[in-house]
Parts: sequence; C-alpha cells; structure tokens
Amino acid sequence: MPQHRLALCSQDFLKWFEKTVHRTVKEFRMFSEEDRVLVAVSGGKDSLALWKVLRKLGYSADGLYIDLGIGEYSSRSQERVLALADQLGAELITVNLREELAAIPELREYSSRETCSLCGMVKRYFFNKVARERGYDVVATGHNLDDEAGALLGNVLGWNLRYLGRKLPVLEEEEGFVRKVKPLVRLTEKETALYCILSGIDYIEEECPFSEGAPTISYKEILNSLEEKSPGTKMRFYFEYIRRVAPLFERGVHRELTTCRVCGEPSPAEVCGICRLRERVVNLKGTGRSSTG
Ligand code: SF4
Ligand code: ZN
Repeated sequence: MPQHRLALCSQDFLKWFEKTVHRTVKEFRMFSEEDRVLVAVSGGKDSLALWKVLRKLGYSADGLYIDLGIGEYSSRSQERVLALADQLGAELITVNLREELAAIPELREYSSRETCSLCGMVKRYFFNKVARERGYDVVATGHNLDDEAGALLGNVLGWNLRYLGRKLPVLEEEEGFVRKVKPLVRLTEKETALYCILSGIDYIEEECPFSEGAPTISYKEILNSLEEKSPGTKMRFYFEYIRRVAPLFERGVHRELTTCRVCGEPSPAEVCGICRLRERVVNLKGTGRSSTG
C-alpha cells in the first residue's frame, strides 16, 4: 500500500484494517460501545466488511437491508446479506420497497430525477425512518475513501456548496435526523475488497444495472490516475478538506427543515419527497397510466 508505505501479510492486513476502522470511529467520535448502531447493508463489499468489523470490535451493530426490487441484482445482493447475518448471528431488518412504495425500476416512471438520485433519496429516507422508529442511535454506511473523495471532487467541480458543506464522516443528529457515520472513510475500495476476500465474506461483485454511466465513476477514475502518479493524493484531498475547508462551512450553509405533514419525517417542504412520490404512485396507478415529472 504505497500511500501508507506499508506492505503487509494477509493476517497483518486484516488486523490493520480493523484497527483503522476502530481508529476512525474514535477519532471522529462516531459512536461508543453503549450506542446501538444500524449498519445499512447492500450486499456489496463495503457495507458487509463494515458490518463484520464493527461486530468484531464489539459494537452492537444490527443490519438494515432495503430490497430495492432491481430484479436479479437485488435477489443476489439479498442472498449475500442473509449469509453474512447468519455467519455473524446478527439481527437483520429488511424493508421491501415494493410493499412500502414501489420498486426502483417502477418508481422511475413517477419521477424526473436521475435513477441514482431517486434511489439515494429513497434509501436515506428509510435508513432514517427505521433507525428512529426502532431506537437506534446511529446509522453507519459503508462509504469508503474512493466514494467520498470522488463525490467531493464532483461537488467541487460543480461548486455545489450545499453538498460540499456536508461531505463529512459524521453528520450529527438534527431535527428528526438520526446521526449518520462513515467509518470506512480511511479505507479504499481495493482495501475493503481485499478484506472481504481474506476474511471469507461473499459479496456481490456485479454492479447495479443503473450504475452505468454514473458521473461518480469517472471522478473516481480521475482520482485513481492521480493516485497512481502520486500515492496519497486521495487521502490528502479528502482529509485536508475535512481539516481545513469543511469548518468554513459550519456556519454558512444551513438547511431550513420542517416536519412532513403526512409521514412526520424531517423535510425541507411541507410534504416530503417520498410522500409526494407515494401520492403520484397511488394516483397514477389508480388511473392506470404512468408519468414523469
Ligand atoms: Fe440505487 Fe443507483 Fe446504487 Fe443502483 S447504482 S443501487 S440505482 S444508487
Ligand atoms: Zn413524508
């Protein structure tokens, strides 16, 4: 690992990986041994590695899987999640989107948003709702250094100040939002894949069919080519942002939030995005046609 000037054998790599997660949890005061953690698991390498490490470190970490209804991809993901839940002897909560709203491929017909943006909104909504209703202190997601540095680059290129101020490893609890944390921000995609392989986690390798052409993929590629020429670039880009730039946003960028009149979740408008979507699904299904907009 040239960025750390480290070369480890497999046993030492596993220990190093777990220690790095532990150090990140402590450094950013993400949660303590007393907190109840809900890990959002997708079946991919990052979230499964995170779940296993947190349990191994002795944290009380249950899993939350959202069945997005994306055909075979979703069923194969779910198999991996169920297998790890079994292996860990951990509790797994499953939300079936078809029952709650509609599957992602169907929901696309009711929204003008890009599929991943729509899917992201739906997932964030249910992570928060389930965590709050079931009394979890914190939601942990498997975002790694590549995800965060790539998203940061995208937000810098578009000078998207609202998101730029929130690209942090911890989003504190506020007005109906449960605290959200990303304990893998010091680890790269390659490192989490290696952790899974070496520790016997079977994860889904195929990509979601909707991920093709997503701009975040090209941002990650750009950062990878910079990293190759100058190891440590990704780490510097993200952690120097946290240390030097993010504090400047603390007072400047603030979201005005209220409570959704229909479901009671926090929302920037009187009725939240999910409830508006639900209304469209119900109305248009009733009239037997679909629409975008
Ligand atoms: Fe959802 Fe997009 Fe991820 Fe597929 S790639 S699971 S649509 S966010
Ligand atoms: Zn709502």
